[in-house]
Amino acid sequence: MATRIIIKRMASLGLALSILLMPKLPGLLVQVQQVQASAPDSILQPNAISEHPAISNVDVIIDAGHGGIDGGTSYGELLEKDINLAIAEKTYEALRKKGYIVLLNRSGDYALSGENLWLRSRSRHLKDLAQRSHLANEIKPKAMISLHVNSARNSSKRGAILLHQKNEQSKQLARHLQHSLNHLYGIHEKPFYGKTYYLLKHCRIPTVIVEMGFITNHQDREMLVRPDWQQAIADHIAIGLEQYLKTSSNPS
Ligand SMILES: [Zn+2]
Repeated sequence: MATRIIIKRMASLGLALSILLMPKLPGLLVQVQQVQASAPDSILQPNAISEHPAISNVDVIIDAGHGGIDGGTSYGELLEKDINLAIAEKTYEALRKKGYIVLLNRSGDYALSGENLWLRSRSRHLKDLAQRSHLANEIKPKAMISLHVNSARNSSKRGAILLHQKNEQSKQLARHLQHSLNHLYGIHEKPFYGKTYYLLKHCRIPTVIVEMGFITNHQDREMLVRPDWQQAIADHIAIGLEQYLKTSSNPS
């Protein structure tokens, strides 16, 4: 179904970065996986990261939050991981149409922790997050956006909220995305510093978490599950990201 090219082997850890050429999503999908001892060496292309233009010059990694046994937050039968993936795929397409090189780190319903040996922790959740941050640090895109869905006890809480890192680039990225999503939701939220978030702490490239809306709010839920509204959310994320990339060129 998908063609897999392993492009980099982390020999000491028995890991490889692999590229999946997806027929459904034209373009590339990067995954980290454990290499089987029996895997033929001929499929390994150790220098492909620097040689492959699509990998050496990535504009953005879209992190589809959760997956597999980690469903994220939920409301009845509705699971965050499925919403994240649906909007991540639409965002991927929207950005590609604008001409950006985009990577999506999850293309189906699976946990990233299952294949990860980077962090020798017994915590599946931490392994999953370590995988996502290591992938970003390895690929070094211009930005990473991690898509999530919020929940609250107070069902009137609604709207998208951006969380950023301490650095100025991440703040800028969050401001552009918040501005664009505020427009869509008709809200006036301000992004805030996600001090305790693993992903924000460990990614060495400008990263933000996009809490795309509250699963516990009727109005937001409608937006998060309807394909036309999912598309609108994806388009507004793409607009915010484009504004960031256009204004942040050569930041150093
Ligand atoms: Zn989440």
